[in-house]
Amino acid sequence: MKYKILLVEHDAASLRVLKRIIGKINLDVVVATSLTEAKLIFESSTPESFLCAVVDYSLPDALHGEAIDFAIASFIPVIVLTSLPDDDVRKRILSKAVVDYIPKQNRQVFEYLSRLLTRLEKNKKVGVLVVGKRPSSRNKVCELLNRHNFETFQANNTHDAIETLYENNLIKLVITENELKDETGIELVAAIRKEFSKEEVSIIGTSNLRQPALLAKFIKSGANDYLREPYCHEEFFCRVVQNIEHIEQIDVIRKTANTDYLTGLPNRRHFFEEVSSSIKRGLDSMCLALMDLDHFKQINDTHGHDCGDVVLKEVSKLMKKHFAAFPMSRFGGEEFCVFFPNMGKEQAIQTIDAFRLKVADKKIRRKRQTISCTVSIGLTALNADKIELMLSQADECLYKAKSRGRNQIVST
Ligand code: GH3
Ligand code: MG
Ligand code: MG
Repeated sequence: MKYKILLVEHDAASLRVLKRIIGKINLDVVVATSLTEAKLIFESSTPESFLCAVVDYSLPDALHGEAIDFAIASFIPVIVLTSLPDDDVRKRILSKAVVDYIPKQNRQVFEYLSRLLTRLEKNKKVGVLVVGKRPSSRNKVCELLNRHNFETFQANNTHDAIETLYENNLIKLVITENELKDETGIELVAAIRKEFSKEEVSIIGTSNLRQPALLAKFIKSGANDYLREPYCHEEFFCRVVQNIEHIEQIDVIRKTANTDYLTGLPNRRHFFEEVSSSIKRGLDSMCLALMDLDHFKQINDTHGHDCGDVVLKEVSKLMKKHFAAFPMSRFGGEEFCVFFPNMGKEQAIQTIDAFRLKVADKKIRRKRQTISCTVSIGLTALNADKIELMLSQADECLYKAKSRGRNQIVST
């Protein structure tokens, strides 16, 4: 779903820049040049279709932030723009339940707005778990988080907190105070760290001015960060976003390290890890198939290396669809591998042979040429409890499939 941004702005020059910036990040812009117009737009649309409203503090018919109050009352996250540099206005804006305010000073702040909007969209799919004894203080933190579109969860003890983390893998951050129902936040942090690493879930511990020593204890027990109460809401969001982005960056690094760049399939290293841990957990039966495209060098020589790349991508697409439930990998070059846990030989042969036929039937069109290719397969069902042994068995079978004429499966 493509979200809309309601832009309430009177100044034509700012409107031009803002429309361009918001359009660039692939969000729809709906413009109102006054509070009256904004009200008319709201009457004819659903609030859920708006990611947020970007509202100028001063409009011809709303000189002192009245448009902000209106957007907040309509349950829409609000970002305020202002060309009034004075501190009183900033304080007045931040006393309202706004997401943030943007002083219209230079181009850089528009870049900041662009990042903020992207973040608000991402936040819809990010969960934050708030843990503490008192519902009132949990609700206060959740209200701040909801303002930024986060999905919030609450718990008042360690057991419920860990259950909630297991049930909702969109949770990337836990914010906890030290006072829980029966135990302490420090104990909670230590318990979470037994099950979830710093790379999986970030934790922020909070403490008030009377307990400054707690902050170091939080960090030593495994928290990523801390917040000292009372905190201003700008600091709160800087820390929340920083800790969530830390998890997201690690996710990106992990995915990149595990993925083959050309085809998007898992790479050899990731395949080894996944299959080895699956074998370790114990399986009743298992099969492993090694596949190699036939005469692929000829495809490169005839149609060009870039067409060869397209063939590799198309075959990988077929694999992702056909073997969706199984660990698979581009093993290197034009070689691929699939693992079938808890599957007997006959069923594995059926599954993989259906794939062989799909590849042979596939017509890949490129530069007004039609390219076909076939695949030879070696499959082993011998339960060697080491992936390396299974691979060498499958490789021997693959060699036989090649020497017997290709486009076929040989199993052992
Ligand atoms: P066989 O049926 O015996 O497997 O013959 P083949 O030609 O497929 O095998 P060979 O090992 O002689 O050649 C494999 C070719 O795959 C050579 C190499 O240039 C090509 N290749 C490896 N990786 C890539 C790639 O990423 N892109 C493209 N386009 N070609 C690649
Ligand atoms: Mg090869
Ligand atoms: Mg080959």
